[in-house]
Amino acid sequence: MSQPASHSDSPSSHSNALTYWIFGSIVAAIVIARLFPEFAMYMDVGGELFLRALRMIVVPLVFTSVLCGVLGLGDIRKLGKPGAAAISYYLLTTIMAVAVGLLVVNVAKPGVGTVDPAVVQEHTGATVGSPKSKLVKSLASSTGMSVSEVAGVLKDLPEGEAEKPGMSKIFKNMALMLVTDNLFVSAAETQLLPIIVFAIVFGAMLTTMGSRVQLVTDFIEQTNAALMQFVMLLMKIAPIGIFCLVASRFGEAQAGGKFAEELSQIGWYFGTVLSGLAIHAFLTLPLIFWVITRKNPYLYLLRLSKALLTAFSTASSSATLPITMECTEEAGVSKESTEFVVPLGATINMDGTALYEAAAVLFIAQVLGMEMDFTQQVLIAITATLAAIGAAGIPEAGLVTMLIVLNAVNLPIEYIGLILSVDWLLDRFRTAVNCFGDAIGAAVVDTTMPKSTSASPG
Ligand code: ASP
Repeated sequence: MSQPASHSDSPSSHSNALTYWIFGSIVAAIVIARLFPEFAMYMDVGGELFLRALRMIVVPLVFTSVLCGVLGLGDIRKLGKPGAAAISYYLLTTIMAVAVGLLVVNVAKPGVGTVDPAVVQEHTGATVGSPKSKLVKSLASSTGMSVSEVAGVLKDLPEGEAEKPGMSKIFKNMALMLVTDNLFVSAAETQLLPIIVFAIVFGAMLTTMGSRVQLVTDFIEQTNAALMQFVMLLMKIAPIGIFCLVASRFGEAQAGGKFAEELSQIGWYFGTVLSGLAIHAFLTLPLIFWVITRKNPYLYLLRLSKALLTAFSTASSSATLPITMECTEEAGVSKESTEFVVPLGATINMDGTALYEAAAVLFIAQVLGMEMDFTQQVLIAITATLAAIGAAGIPEAGLVTMLIVLNAVNLPIEYIGLILSVDWLLDRFRTAVNCFGDAIGAAVVDTTMPKSTSASPG
C-alpha cells in the first residue's frame, strides 16, 4: 500500500507533512515547557482529550482488526505458519532485548560507585519498613495507575524475603490472562489479550460457516474500515494533541525543579538504558528486518515515524496502536499481517520494556553492591521477559511489573524508588521501541503469509 511520492498532494506527501508537524510540535512543546513550565502544565486537558480519543477506539479496533486479519486468511489452517512466525519473533526479539539490557549494564556499570548513598536513602528510606502499602501508593501516584491495579501486581509478592513467588505462579497468572470470564469487563478495562484470543477463535469459527454468516463478516469488515478511517481523522489533530501531551508532562518536570538534579544523579543509568534501547532499535531489529525481507530497515523506520513520535508522546503502546497499524500498512505491509501481528504485538511483544526491566534490576543490584552471578542474571532474563509480556501498554506499566523481577532475585522492592524520578522519560523511549518491534514483526511475518494476501514492505 505504499504510495507514490511524485505528486505534491499525494497521500504520501500528506503523511510526510504530518510527520514534520508532529516532530515540530514535540520540539516546540519541549521549548515552551522549559521557558514557561507553569503555563505548559495547563495544556494537560488538551493532551488528555487526545489520549482519550485514541484509547476510545482501541478496544473496538483491536476486536474488528484481529477478526478481519483472521477472516482475510479465509481458512484458519493458513494461520499456522504466520502464527508460529509471530510467536517465535516475539520471543526471540524479547530475549535479544533482555540480553542487550544486561550486557550494557554489565559493561557500563552505572550503579557502581556513581550513586550517592544519601540519594539511596532519600528515595527508599521513606518506604523501608512497610514496603508494600507505601510502595503501592507511591507507584500509583507516579504511574497514574489506580491503587488497586498496582496492588494487583503486588499481591503475589510475599512481605518477607524468605519466600519467592515460584515460576509456576507466574506462568499460572499468565495463562489465566489469556481467557476472560466476561468479555465486557475485559473490554471495559482494556484488557486486550483475552479480547484478541476470543477474536482469533471467533474469527476462525466464522471462516468455517461460509455464507450463513455473510452479514456478520461484512459488518465486521465494514466496521473495521470505518474505524481505520476514524484513525485518519484523529491524525489530523495529532500535532495539537501531541503538543499538549508533551508540553504538560515536560512542564510538570520543569516546574518540579528537581528533574535536572535527579537526572544528573542517575544520568549514567539513564544513558546506559538509552544506549541499550538504541542498540536494539538501530541494530538488532533492523538486522532482523533486513535478513528476512531484504529491504532497507531505516527507510521502514522513517515511514513509521508518525507512530514512533506518537509513542514517545503518549508513552502508551495501546493508545498508539491505531497509528502503528496505519503506518505499518502505509509502509507496505499487507493488511492481514498488520491486523494480525500489530495488535497482538502491542499487547505481548514489548522489547523496550523487557530491556529496561532487566537493565534497571541489574542497576539496583549494583547500587546495593550485590553481585549478580550468571545464574541470577539468567533468572533476571527469564522473569524480565515474562514481566514484559504481562505489562499492559500503558504509561509506566513496566515499572510496576518490574517488582516481579526484583523479587525473583531477592532484591528489596522499595529500591524501585531510586529510578522512579526519571522513569516517565525513559518510558517514552521504551514505548517507541515497543511499537517499532511490533511493526518490524508485522513485516517479518508478512513474508510467511500465503502469497495471495501478502505485499512486500519497504
Ligand atoms: N509504556 C509502555 C508501553 O505502553 C509500557 C512500559 O514499559 O511501561 O508500551
